[in-house]
Amino acid sequence: MKSISVVKVGSLRDPDESKRGKVAVRDVPVPEVGDEDVKIKVAYCAICGSDPHLVENIFGWEIPFGLGHEVSGVVVELGKKATMKGLKVGDRVAGNFLHFCGRCYYCLNGQQQFCEGIPEGNSGMSEYVVWHESQVYKLPDDVSLKEGCLLEPTAIAVRIADKLSMKVGQRVAINGGGPIGLLTLQVLKMNGATSLTVFEPVAERREMALEYGADYAIDPIANDVVEESKKITDGRGFDVVVDASGAVKAVKSLLDITAKGGQLLYAAMYPNDFEMPLNLNKYLYLNEITVTGFFVAPYAFPRSLQLLPKMKLDKFTNKVFTIDQPEEAFAAQISGKYPKILIQCNEDIANL
Ligand SMILES: [Zn+2]
Ligand SMILES: [Zn+2]
Repeated sequence: MKSISVVKVGSLRDPDESKRGKVAVRDVPVPEVGDEDVKIKVAYCAICGSDPHLVENIFGWEIPFGLGHEVSGVVVELGKKATMKGLKVGDRVAGNFLHFCGRCYYCLNGQQQFCEGIPEGNSGMSEYVVWHESQVYKLPDDVSLKEGCLLEPTAIAVRIADKLSMKVGQRVAINGGGPIGLLTLQVLKMNGATSLTVFEPVAERREMALEYGADYAIDPIANDVVEESKKITDGRGFDVVVDASGAVKAVKSLLDITAKGGQLLYAAMYPNDFEMPLNLNKYLYLNEITVTGFFVAPYAFPRSLQLLPKMKLDKFTNKVFTIDQPEEAFAAQISGKYPKILIQCNEDIANL
């Protein structure tokens, strides 16, 4: 079957073409179906903001390796013990690309994100994936397969909300209006966010932020982020600040827009060697700011499935490439022009 893989490690943005990373379609074996597994014919796999970082090989994997974890598709085969969820051949599904083992210390301790028994998964930018039944969720009838592949990023937004434990009416700022920022904005709006502000340099994304429920959308390059935040919050700062940008130049100033007693969540991927100075006396002692982060999205999928029909996703599903166009799709991704890029992995089920 066709599968999109990293065949050369390097930044996709490297101006020196000889050093640039490369993705390509490879022919790989169709994964086998175990007793508790579900075989899914993939309709769409969305490109995640983390995928270009994988091409840079931040995890040090051996090439070639597959890409893609934001998957929707149709069930084509079930293992004989995959009976717990009542899934049937033909069901439209999406899910969690991580198979938490359920048996290790962390899984038993309510911390699946640190699971020590996650098996090597199949990559989603493929014609088929085989997942354990526990990873698979049947999509609601009113969610299309194009929208369905956004279940995983929606689960990230739900985990962000879980991690914050915010109170209704608190003032919220989100740094970055990419897909995670725009999904988080919607989830935190449902959580009762006020003065909801998105800082985002790209004008189209600011427009989307306003359309999707932000009260303010501010260009952080043309404006002083700290001054604008003071204007919006009577000089006090935001109770909740989420970084969904991963932009190392912007992350330190977020401490200055967080209110006394507020929460600051760094919710992106950052370069391995990036370190940020933190004045403990000012921010943690005197201001009692809680600074935190998160890794993946355990326990978030059932609720994400409930939210998915309520999410505004129309602008996320417009830019589609086929599985035979990996280079074009990744070039579009790093152009930053589109909120989300979808890869259609099988044409015949694309409109189911
Ligand atoms: Zn992702
Ligand atoms: Zn585990």
